[in-house]
Amino acid sequence: MNPSEMEGSRSYDAVVVGSGPNGLAAAVKLAQAGLSVAVFESRVTVGGGTSTAELTLPGFRHDVFSAVHPLAVASPFLRTLPLAEHGLEWIHSPAPLAHPLDDGTAILLERSVEATARNLERDARSYKKLVEPLVGHWDDLAADMLRPLSFPSRPLLFSRFGLRAIRSASGLAETAFAGPRARALFAGLGAHSIMPLDRLGSAAIGLVMCVTAHAVGWPIAKGGSQRIAEALAAYLRTLKAEVVTGAAIGSVQKLPKARIILLDVTPRQLLQMVQGFPDEYRRKLERYRYGPGAFKVEWALNGPIPWRAADCQRAATVHLGGTLQEIVKAESGIWRDKHAEKPFVFLTQQSLFDPTRAPEGKHMAGAYCHVPNGSNVDMTAAIEAQVERFAPGFRDRILKTNKMPPAELERLNANCIGGDIAGGIQNLRRLMQTSLRGSPYVTPVAGIYVCSSSTPPGAGVHGMCGYHAAVAALRQLS
Ligand SMILES: Cc1cc2nc3c(=O)[nH]c(=O)nc-3n(C[C@H](O)[C@H](O)[C@H](O)COP(=O)(O)OP(=O)(O)OC[C@H]3O[C@@H](n4cnc5c(N)ncnc54)[C@H](O)[C@@H]3O)c2cc1C
Repeated sequence: MNPSEMEGSRSYDAVVVGSGPNGLAAAVKLAQAGLSVAVFESRVTVGGGTSTAELTLPGFRHDVFSAVHPLAVASPFLRTLPLAEHGLEWIHSPAPLAHPLDDGTAILLERSVEATARNLERDARSYKKLVEPLVGHWDDLAADMLRPLSFPSRPLLFSRFGLRAIRSASGLAETAFAGPRARALFAGLGAHSIMPLDRLGSAAIGLVMCVTAHAVGWPIAKGGSQRIAEALAAYLRTLKAEVVTGAAIGSVQKLPKARIILLDVTPRQLLQMVQGFPDEYRRKLERYRYGPGAFKVEWALNGPIPWRAADCQRAATVHLGGTLQEIVKAESGIWRDKHAEKPFVFLTQQSLFDPTRAPEGKHMAGAYCHVPNGSNVDMTAAIEAQVERFAPGFRDRILKTNKMPPAELERLNANCIGGDIAGGIQNLRRLMQTSLRGSPYVTPVAGIYVCSSSTPPGAGVHGMCGYHAAVAALRQLS
């Protein structure tokens, strides 16, 4: 359906633009409340950041964006939905994460705290002390964390987390741990914050990644991340909602009539799509800061990656970057417009655990590193050198490579501005600004709401931005 066909077509209680996990979660919440809902997605498939495609060779199914989903299984909203009935199956690798080192060993982040601690030699006790109390209360923590900042329901527990989370990832790693293994492991986890690791607040995501590995695991979706979106869309259709793909919305004026409109877009697109914002709000949107971009590579392989540390084959996710010092250096340079010679690499090897991802006997893997926003530098050789460093002979297994620089990520998903995978910088300042001044989902134009990962609780496949935006919209309707 093109926009001109939509004008004058039927009307809805609610229209959602964008079918990322947040758009779909918002639509589900609204449809569950009995509203008539339509979702309009510019791409031919639903899913936004949860998308799978044969990017290299036929039969090799690559996750185009998100690959590993601790926050989806931890999500207080997604957990309530019957997604398994609509085809979603989670696969857990035996260990969530491996982090190889140059001495030929790997640190394994295991499902069990005890087993992980055993990997960390003299830091075993410190690791348990840091992590165990949080793992035991993850459900309570998740409920407070995966929503806009507000007074926590479990203040003591939350302050235990918050006092550590507010620190820098490198500061926390260096004071909590004495040895290089635990420090390197935590630095790699902290790098998911997409912040310089010596910046206050960068420990928060590191802690969340660490605790979720034990509490809920880091699963991949059988068949690819696209299955998450397909299951959400299938459930949504059972609630009588409509999902329209191939419908790029340039302006909200072009949408069918609706009482409320929820936009799964970032501030830059919001400015283009909605006229009539007051100057102050418009300036706020113009000042909104995007974070570094990502450079992503996918490979079709003629065998599994030949890790020097064989334990790396037990984990779907592998962090490549060596020591804490190296990771800190690689991640901080990006904020000064530098490309790391030895980038910190987030690698996933789904086909080791999900045979549907590659033809028999063959394998696929994907990896990305952070780069300055909008970078044009080809990081393929640097990423492959990091894999080769820990898996000599890796390059010989490559059948085909697919490169996705920031511009390609943005072409495939308009929300990846300059290759930013998080919908904006995820720092403490933004968290405070978006959360303490009224609802971050409500715009000054009546009936128009934002529901993307540019709103709290931010990036990740959890659908909680969409859920909270829908709740805010329903509150204003009633
Ligand atoms: C390379 C990469 C790797 C990632 N890895 C992980 C991971 O392993 N685990 C994890 O949890 N998260 C990961 N993420 C983050 C995660 O994918 C996002 O945080 C999440 O998808 C955000 O969901 P969303 O609904 O806010 O937006 P998106 O998923 O970005 O969806 C937005 C949707 O809106 C559509 N749209 C935008 N503008 C318009 C318009 N004008 N008209 C119609 N449709 C429009 C887009 O086409 C898109 O489908 C990754 C992201 C990227 C880019």
